[in-house]
Amino acid sequence: MEIFQMKLTDLIEARESNKIEPVEIAEHYQRRIELLNPRYRAFIIYAEDMPGKVWKNEKKKKRSKNLLTGIPVGIKDNIATRDFPTSCASRLKSKKNNRFNAFVVQTIINSGGIIAGKTNLDEFGMVPPDSDDVFLQTLNPWNPEHIPGGSSGGSAAAVAAGLVPAALGSDTGGSVRHPAAHCGVVGFKPTYGLVSRCGLNAFAPSLDQIGPITNSVRDAALLMDIISKVDKNDPRLVRGKRPNYFGDLEQDITDMTFGVAQNYLTRNIDPEIRKIVLAAQEEIKKLGGNIREIQLPEIDPVKITYYIIAHAEVFGCLKGMEKELNGICFVEDGINNRLTEANSSMLGSETKRRILLGGLVMDRIKYYYQALRVRTLIIKKFNSLFETCDFILTPTTSYPPRKIFVRNDPVSEYTSPDFTIAANLTGRPAISLPAGLTEKNLPVGVQLIGDYFKDNLLFQSAHQLEQAFSFPYLVEQKKNQAGQK
Ligand code: GLN
Repeated sequence: MEIFQMKLTDLIEARESNKIEPVEIAEHYQRRIELLNPRYRAFIIYAEDMPGKVWKNEKKKKRSKNLLTGIPVGIKDNIATRDFPTSCASRLKSKKNNRFNAFVVQTIINSGGIIAGKTNLDEFGMVPPDSDDVFLQTLNPWNPEHIPGGSSGGSAAAVAAGLVPAALGSDTGGSVRHPAAHCGVVGFKPTYGLVSRCGLNAFAPSLDQIGPITNSVRDAALLMDIISKVDKNDPRLVRGKRPNYFGDLEQDITDMTFGVAQNYLTRNIDPEIRKIVLAAQEEIKKLGGNIREIQLPEIDPVKITYYIIAHAEVFGCLKGMEKELNGICFVEDGINNRLTEANSSMLGSETKRRILLGGLVMDRIKYYYQALRVRTLIIKKFNSLFETCDFILTPTTSYPPRKIFVRNDPVSEYTSPDFTIAANLTGRPAISLPAGLTEKNLPVGVQLIGDYFKDNLLFQSAHQLEQAFSFPYLVEQKKNQAGQK
């Protein structure tokens, strides 16, 4: 087995039993990135000498016994790093160099990990319905004619193609889970407030969370143990002791209850996706779990609530960049704000659309307050469902990865079913794990939503399901489409 085919946890084990040297791991991934990044364009920028870095650390005898020693991790390019600029995949931001390590990045470095580089995203994390106006087009390693999903598409593609064994993404409305499903990898969004966001370029602060993307549930749990440490500088963080996510994965799911929303399966979702979710339901029963039919809040109001809140908050966040935007974007009377030609060319069409819509919402602030009231009702509904359920099972996406350059109009995208955003609106933890393949050999993910701060239980049940699915992760496939050489 080649190094890139090993899971993060197996790599650590091999290194701890001295079967592989840390430098060997770094050399292997350095070569893979150099060879394959030009093909998949998962990284915007990457390290030139990871083995050298490992040597240096070894020489200092620093961190040599740490968990991630020698292991490269990809970081979404909206999370600050000292060694690389942070562009948010925006022509506007790439000019600016704000070099410091985000808290989560520092936890990885303190564990001996190497920052492999900055992975691509949709500009500022906003997923556009059209794809002809992008900073960099990442390709899906399962089939380069297809999109990797977003907005953490670079992180998901890098992990799926074996350019790194693990990466971090950020998730405001599904941006870790959506690309994870499209690229056939695991994506985890923690309970709101469990992972520090210091150093994350904010999109919508009441929804944003950083989360791991990996080639197994165990790997994601391990990374969560590392990044979810208490950060004194993040006032939004929950201070209490964290559970051990990695520790008790092996417990079974007998008698656990999984709510399945029938109203999410009858709506216009792709029939192949429906089939895979129904098969997952059967696997849960075989594992001793119970299935309970539930009604989740209708997608439309959930989605509208999300977009009103997200647009308003993004407007507030980008307002902080007023200077970079030359102050032209934001005149005091929100609705009248204008994007001049000059600024226009510095921003992608989706960012402009959201600034304008955000300005509109802020100008009619009652819409924002109304959205907050609906958000409370959605939270109450989920709370009552969790009185009788331990988890909720849904598809992660309603469709398999579409082809690049097939354009949807923005309105149809804003109104298509979206199963990931409820977890952000309610602050609940959620995971996407690969559950099957379509006839065209494209990956499909299912999502489990869990109860507040029971992220460890979510990992357990996802781990059990993952064994049952025995999904063929791309890195494990012998004749590897990721271009093994
Ligand atoms: N589709 C959502 C949006 O574009 C996802 C955003 C995210 O999670 N960063 O708003």
